[in-house]
Amino acid sequence: MSIRLLSETIINQIAAGEVIERPASVVKELVENAIDAGATRIEIVTAGGGKNLIRVTDNGGGIPADELTLAVSRHCTSKLTDDVHDIRALGFRGEALPSIGSVARLSIKSRTAEADSGYEVVVRGGHLEGPRPTAINRGTIVEVSDLFYATPARLKFMKTDRAESTAITEVVKRIAISFPQVRFSIAGTDRSPLELPATCTAGETVSEAAMLERISQVLGADFSENALALDSEREGVRLTGFTAIPSFNRANSLHQFAYINGRPVRDKQVFGALRGAYSDVIARDRHPVGVLFLQLDPAYVDVNVHPAKADVRFRDPGLVRGLIVGTIRHALAQSGIRPATSGAEAMLKAFQAQGFETSERSSGSFTSSPARSWQSATSYRPEPPRQEWSPQTAHPAQRPLHLDTQPAQRFEQAGFGEALQATISQFTAPSADSRAAEIEAPAELLRTPLGAARAQIHANYIVSQTEDSLVIVDQHAAHERLVYEALKTALESKPMAAQMLLIPEIVDLPEEDAERVVAHAPTLERFGLSVEQFGPGAVAVRETPAMLGEMDVQQLIRDLADEIAEHDTANGLKDMLNHVAATMACHGSVRSGRRMKGEEMNALLRQMEATPGSGTCNHGRPTYIELKLSDIERLFGRR
Ligand code: ADP
Ligand code: MG
Repeated sequence: MSIRLLSETIINQIAAGEVIERPASVVKELVENAIDAGATRIEIVTAGGGKNLIRVTDNGGGIPADELTLAVSRHCTSKLTDDVHDIRALGFRGEALPSIGSVARLSIKSRTAEADSGYEVVVRGGHLEGPRPTAINRGTIVEVSDLFYATPARLKFMKTDRAESTAITEVVKRIAISFPQVRFSIAGTDRSPLELPATCTAGETVSEAAMLERISQVLGADFSENALALDSEREGVRLTGFTAIPSFNRANSLHQFAYINGRPVRDKQVFGALRGAYSDVIARDRHPVGVLFLQLDPAYVDVNVHPAKADVRFRDPGLVRGLIVGTIRHALAQSGIRPATSGAEAMLKAFQAQGFETSERSSGSFTSSPARSWQSATSYRPEPPRQEWSPQTAHPAQRPLHLDTQPAQRFEQAGFGEALQATISQFTAPSADSRAAEIEAPAELLRTPLGAARAQIHANYIVSQTEDSLVIVDQHAAHERLVYEALKTALESKPMAAQMLLIPEIVDLPEEDAERVVAHAPTLERFGLSVEQFGPGAVAVRETPAMLGEMDVQQLIRDLADEIAEHDTANGLKDMLNHVAATMACHGSVRSGRRMKGEEMNALLRQMEATPGSGTCNHGRPTYIELKLSDIERLFGRR
């Protein structure tokens, strides 16, 4: 076959293959056009998951009659002049409308403020009809029907109506977050209607409160209760937005949003940085929740990497990553200690599920399996007790020790290693008495964030009281976090003190694992853990970190081998050190099952208050939950 120029329709269909993947991509293009036209109200109607009908109505500037034909022609745009590096609108490629027209029936009705009537064009199978006069208010109505009728192969790849209609909602929500001055509504025979009223007036600068309100419309009201505001700038790149505290995490990444100069993107570098910021406070299979807005000179970012404009290229990716990770980590540290409100809410629900519903007491139903309802009502699951503590297995340094009256002060004065040792040492042997006895504590402790410890129950939970709440702390999770933070801090200053083992411990491992551990011996040395090769497939451990006391060396080395295998190549030394610290913390912290004295509990609470990030354990679960007195009163119908 000889070479020839393809027909306009075929060219448009090829472009459509990239821009219009599914009904949601049509909605994205049409809504972006409406926003570019300055609309403050955008109504979306769909049928059959968008395959049968998509209609987007806006109150924007409209298209003059004599430009309607151009609007549906390829490479015609009103948004770009001569500089492809100066892109300020959402659209600029002049591709969407002709592409849609080549794979569906497309009708555009529009009227500008100046025109005395509206006009309509219709494109069917690449064939144009109009413009002809039509009745319409100021603005534009774009209607797309029988999507992909002209490309049946694409039609076959469509998911169920329900899935497509959900995808449309997701797209609209994603755009809506960065345009709080616009009112969005979605309705149709294939969905329940959704309204997102504007949270500020057009033309005003968008306040933080307006932004947060719109985000909460999309992510749910509980987001704002758990959100930390971000605002920082580095070398002309500004980052604003909100991320949630670590314990407010999700099982997938659908609740992560990123915008560059207002444009929604799904850029891997940006989301990678968001994940990176939470890497040591969230479990690997959980996802942080957050909304990031980046603002920078359009010349420093290329948005023209992909036709759907989801990926971007930064001139200085390292700067952007550093800004995101640094700002979020700073916000997390600043937030101090704060549990997810979802913890207390889950607790309330759990109580209520057992028939103690207060607002509808008469109709409250009793669930026969309170344990099950607790499990289902909350995402928080305490770890099952691991190895039971007993005086025989305890390191001598972990046996009872006389305590100062001011443990927190003592912690500060002592050297770091010693201080931690002392904290660990404060945990005493189990007493024969298994009752939870109330503990006397000075009244001023009631005014501290975590309050005065009152009792330890089930040998793992510290129950404490503040002026207006009840707090329950998971002692194992909390202590693990404190040890981890202490390890990280100690690492920054000097190699940690080691403690020589009387007889070196030999650990048998698969050969590759042994090699990996030995290859990282210098790193482990910094933690005070000394290992060397002991023939193929074994390592000898001669010293362990003094800070951690006695531990199960075999298990520690095996866990470290796993960590090294997983993090060796990808993340570099710093990440690796954090993972080693986390593994060591897990092995070196107080097990559940250990009884504690009142002073010890209060010492732990004070140390938690003093340690940023101690509100979540290393796996991203809360280390404590708080129930406000007002909630307790509600449970008892006193309010
Ligand atoms: P692009 O958005 O990349 O410019 P499109 O094919 O999406 O390309 O749209 C072509 C042109 O049609 C736009 O540049 C704009 O001038 C006009 N247009 C499209 N939709 C609207 C709308 N809802 N209101 C006003 N003008 C519109
Ligand atoms: Mg467009």
